[in-house]
Amino acid sequence: MKTLSQTSLQSSARQAMRSRGMMRVCAKATADIRSSAALRVPLDKAHTFNAKFVPFKDVQSHTASGETYSLDEVVYRSKDGGLLDVQHDIKALSAYGPDYWRALFDARVGTTSWPFGSGVWSKKEWVLPGISDDDIVSMFEGNSNLFWAERFGREALGMSDLWVKQCGNSHTGSFKDLGMTVLVSQVNRIRKLKPGSITAVGCASTGDTSAALSAYCAAADIPSIVFLPADKISLAQLVQPIANGALVLSIDTDFDGCMRLIKQVTAETPIYLANSMNSLRLEGQKTAAIEILQQFDWQVPDWVIIPGGNLGNVYAFYKGFKMCKELGLVDKMPRLVCAQAQNANPLYAAFHKAQGLEGIKEGYAPMKAKTTFASAIQIGDPVSIDRAIMALKDCNGIVEEASEEELMDAAARADRTGMFNCPHTGVALAALTKLRERNVIGPKDRTVVVSTAHGLKFTQSKVAYHSKQVPNMSCSFANPPVQVREDLGAVMDAIKTKFSL
Ligand SMILES: *Cc1c(COP(=O)(O)O)cnc(C)c1O
Repeated sequence: MKTLSQTSLQSSARQAMRSRGMMRVCAKATADIRSSAALRVPLDKAHTFNAKFVPFKDVQSHTASGETYSLDEVVYRSKDGGLLDVQHDIKALSAYGPDYWRALFDARVGTTSWPFGSGVWSKKEWVLPGISDDDIVSMFEGNSNLFWAERFGREALGMSDLWVKQCGNSHTGSFKDLGMTVLVSQVNRIRKLKPGSITAVGCASTGDTSAALSAYCAAADIPSIVFLPADKISLAQLVQPIANGALVLSIDTDFDGCMRLIKQVTAETPIYLANSMNSLRLEGQKTAAIEILQQFDWQVPDWVIIPGGNLGNVYAFYKGFKMCKELGLVDKMPRLVCAQAQNANPLYAAFHKAQGLEGIKEGYAPMKAKTTFASAIQIGDPVSIDRAIMALKDCNGIVEEASEEELMDAAARADRTGMFNCPHTGVALAALTKLRERNVIGPKDRTVVVSTAHGLKFTQSKVAYHSKQVPNMSCSFANPPVQVREDLGAVMDAIKTKFSL
């Protein structure tokens, strides 16, 4: 199979080269090197593909204002203060055809040839086409498991085709690695191109961004600074940047307060801003969508449910699916569901008020987020609000919410079937449960729940739940440990009680 697809790949690559007049003689090529070089055609021709920053509102309105920036510039916002977007040269990419891209991406999965074994860099031409392989800072991110939630789907929801994309099975335990490898790689390149231009990289974080930033920066020997809301992140999240040698500022505010401060600091110093306002990260995150398509042999799922806080990830998934559709790798889009915690639900509130996506922007207002177990999405003023609204509108999406009890119960119930979910994944699972109950999502719909972090990062809330120590929560699926004396009778009693022997 593999030989077959590689052969057709090589011939299509050669054909493409010839038709573009790019055939080159490689002096030291043996047959093997030549065939692997054929796979690498676009990479040796980095200038064939290119990407640049454009104002997001150009993307939104399908226009070209002419305002563009090189990815090598330190710029986060358009002239009028709006968001930027990384725009790829779709015409250049489309010269290679869908078979070429599918085969190329599939052939690279898990290989050891730097940097293509990474789930992000296996799609390098669609991510940062111009960067040299030597500048890439990668930890083999991506390629995460697509878990078939067979038992949970069947028992809890009457579903037969339910999957959980385990994006938290990653170096620092969250999907943030997917974006951070791209951002830190680009910073690494800029620091080499323009020495002195970037002294350090900084971010405000609800925990996972700072863990990813500090790890990738440490690997590349780039100083990092993280702004964290004091006492609002898990211990596992806090200890990661500490261990990786970042400057950790614990600030007595919430995420939105940290965000305001870092924006001011990065505006006045050569410190590079690593928050998801920075559109480079979304380029890495979008590869998780492409990976899902690959894992289904390029079949498009009906639904993809994504927990949303700052709302960058919803847009990133949309962008990944959209590029695959635009370039003909698939023929349709899945419907996206953004799942928010009820305590931090500005997008849901607007969706609810507008009774759908029409007029959602007009009804939108930032809010002060309340404490939630899903602490990574405790955000009341999401930076990517416009990106998310555009994404949802274009794929007939939905916004749903989950209360604290609903999200903890959903996570615990799914854990009982072999998962180990973080509270954010609980939000997505609870949203799914509601949409199933209303039969918006059908029993046979192929549905993917995006798990955003590893459950082991959030043991404190799980321990509280299972010991029934959450105020005003019945903790229906708690499974507290049973204390017994060192005594056979006591042990036998405990076993008999549990299994009704
Ligand atoms: C960052 C994060 C989110 C939210 O992603 P946004 O792009 O901010 O919407 C969700 N879950 C976890 C675990 C995260 O770290």
